[in-house]
Amino acid sequence: MAKSASSKHPAHYTRLCDLLREAASIGAVGSLLGWDQETYMPHAGAAMPGGRADQSSIISGIVHERRTSKEIGDLIARCEADKNLLGDSRIAANIREMRRDYDLATKLPTSLVSELARTGSLSQDAWKDARAKNRFKDFKPWLEKMLDLTRQKAKCYGVPKGGEVYDALLDEYEPGMTAREVEGIFTPLRGRLAGLVSEIVASKAKVSDKCTEIGASQADQHAFGHDVIKALGFDLNAGRLDTTAHPFCSGMGPGDTRLTTRYGKPSILEALGSTMHEAGHGMYEQGLPKGTHFGQPLADAISLGIHESQSRMWENLVGRSRAFWQWALPVAKKRFGAKLAKVNVDQMYAAANVVQPSFIRVEADEATYNLHIMIRFAIERALISEDLSVSDLPGTWNAMYKEYLGLKVPSDTLGCLQDVHWSFGLIGYFPTYTLGNLYAAQFWVQISRDIPDLDKRMAKGDFAPLLAWLRKNIHQHGRRYRAAELCQRVTGRPLSADPLMAYLEGKLRPIYGLDGGAKAGAKAAFKPARRAHAMAMA
Ligand code: ZN
Repeated sequence: MAKSASSKHPAHYTRLCDLLREAASIGAVGSLLGWDQETYMPHAGAAMPGGRADQSSIISGIVHERRTSKEIGDLIARCEADKNLLGDSRIAANIREMRRDYDLATKLPTSLVSELARTGSLSQDAWKDARAKNRFKDFKPWLEKMLDLTRQKAKCYGVPKGGEVYDALLDEYEPGMTAREVEGIFTPLRGRLAGLVSEIVASKAKVSDKCTEIGASQADQHAFGHDVIKALGFDLNAGRLDTTAHPFCSGMGPGDTRLTTRYGKPSILEALGSTMHEAGHGMYEQGLPKGTHFGQPLADAISLGIHESQSRMWENLVGRSRAFWQWALPVAKKRFGAKLAKVNVDQMYAAANVVQPSFIRVEADEATYNLHIMIRFAIERALISEDLSVSDLPGTWNAMYKEYLGLKVPSDTLGCLQDVHWSFGLIGYFPTYTLGNLYAAQFWVQISRDIPDLDKRMAKGDFAPLLAWLRKNIHQHGRRYRAAELCQRVTGRPLSADPLMAYLEGKLRPIYGLDGGAKAGAKAAFKPARRAHAMAMA
């Protein structure tokens, strides 16, 4: 096996990196098992004794044991005391993050870890059933149990001084960020977004994606997806694209990044959006320096928010742009033939930017999506601090959907029971989706400055300057910087709601014929498509 740390480093550091690489290699075996289970494994292989569920749990047990070993703890302590080593700021960051990982992994007592896993799995089953039957009261005792266990988990992690329980949970997914900081960004964003969305809803513009419902075969959509991600820069020699019920990206190891997508919705934009989203995650994974630092924080993604910024940038800022469709529509026409023959770039651009309030988060458009997240953030924060009781969850949920999106939620199935997250104790996870949108928009402002002819390049199918920018400014650093620091370094300012709002206003106002946004991207040639915009359930 190749050594990851060169011999100029002291033995304790080299040994530490070797141990972490071994643990990560075993972890990659676990990822491969997981990927296989979602893609090709026969259904019967999951539950039998010794089958996939057992295999996966044995592997994750071994990885956990390795990562929390006393030897690793001792080696980290020796590195922390080595002033020479810490003189190298990259290595100092690497060790800082190794300490964080080690502490997080060792702070939870084994009894709590297994209780969380056991109750979480039962709670998830109860949630599935309750959602199918629209019976919130069946799920209520499970959610109460999971919240209680999650509060215990937060206490083990340690609630920061002057902070709240929620902070300890959020920190797991978005290191260093607090609930108050999220609130400080979300609050102004909410007012402006809600205003824009209500203007769009009230507008008479007929914006539709009907022209993309062409009954394309899965094979043609798959081939088109390949055309696109190859052009974007996803390395298919070091990755692949398969089909699953729920799309995901698994950056399992050096030279091996797997994407999945799904087909079956009427519009070809659905699958393409998922494919580009996962490819965005995948290109981040491929850009991390795993060849030299696999297993170390320097080859890991910074946070869920930054990971999501990469996926959403390619899916939305690229994939819903006019420049992208100038290139992609002719490519699509080659794949889909006569079915797309009459569609022009204006129609495609409009179709990719339909805004329509709906009940379901995962089907939401780029503008309303963030309102779904804000509702979840406010509710889970109140649940975990016990300012909101589980009994009052459905009522609060429905009231907020009325207030934020103007919708009357018809059932808990389409309301507070729709997401899986809370059923297994994922509290503090939701905000990272909107943080991803915010980071993406803020990076994009800088990217547009640094690559002034980006639109022209994208219109020709040349995405290389964009990917090179992301590699240089974000991917190559791994976890060297925390998200806030990276944002400041790259964009010169802290994260703010302004870039995302300016981007959405600049794009959506012209499409919907609203005043005040004509400067960015308005095209008089836009032709309304056939289907009228309507408030409807997604
Ligand atoms: Zn994602």
